Amino acid sequence: MERAYAKVTTALDFVPPDKPLVYLTPALSLNPDLQRPGVLASADPESRIINMHSIESFGAGFYDPAAGPLADMYPTITHEYTHVVNRYIVPLVRMKKWMSEGLAEYTSDSFRPREVQSAIRSGRVMTLEQAHEAIFFGQEKNFTPAQQSLAYGIGAYAVRLIMETYGSQAFWALAKEYDKTRDWDSSVMTAFGISYAEFQDKFNGWLPGAVEADLARGVR
Ligand SMILES: [Zn+2]
Repeated sequence: MERAYAKVTTALDFVPPDKPLVYLTPALSLNPDLQRPGVLASADPESRIINMHSIESFGAGFYDPAAGPLADMYPTITHEYTHVVNRYIVPLVRMKKWMSEGLAEYTSDSFRPREVQSAIRSGRVMTLEQAHEAIFFGQEKNFTPAQQSLAYGIGAYAVRLIMETYGSQAFWALAKEYDKTRDWDSSVMTAFGISYAEFQDKFNGWLPGAVEADLARGVR
């Protein structure tokens, strides 16, 4: 948790005034927040409570015995804690999903480069708007689990491009401007000084090289 705190507060450039509560649930279905299949953890940013399966329970999935369970718990807790800290700055429900989930994947270094690369190669790569829809609507709009997972990867890379090119203050400027105006195109222009179409083009041009570089240095 302390490692996650350091990573998230640095990446988001924001120090929250208090700490979250983390509940570790040692068995499946004991905790109503964790009953959906495949859910490892959830955060309630309003109450600043994080629920997650403890590592010995079935719900926490498999881990590499050489690395130990904490190696796998760290990205999960970092992801959920990012949502908690995010809430202090802008309400998550007022953000594009690729921004809020992408940020949580970015801080936990979960870029899914293999999935993104195979999408690029087969022409299935999503636009940012499609990534938002895939995460927001999921099965309601017939997005498959693979498409939803790809959308998280796309979001993570898009957030990385923003952080590396414009910085975290521009990321929050975009989120706050969109929260205030609900006008996406003008918010992108205000925060980045380019149009949304130009940003999407920039992202499309940057993504393949970023993914190749990650795979070359062994990022999973
Ligand atoms: Zn999340």
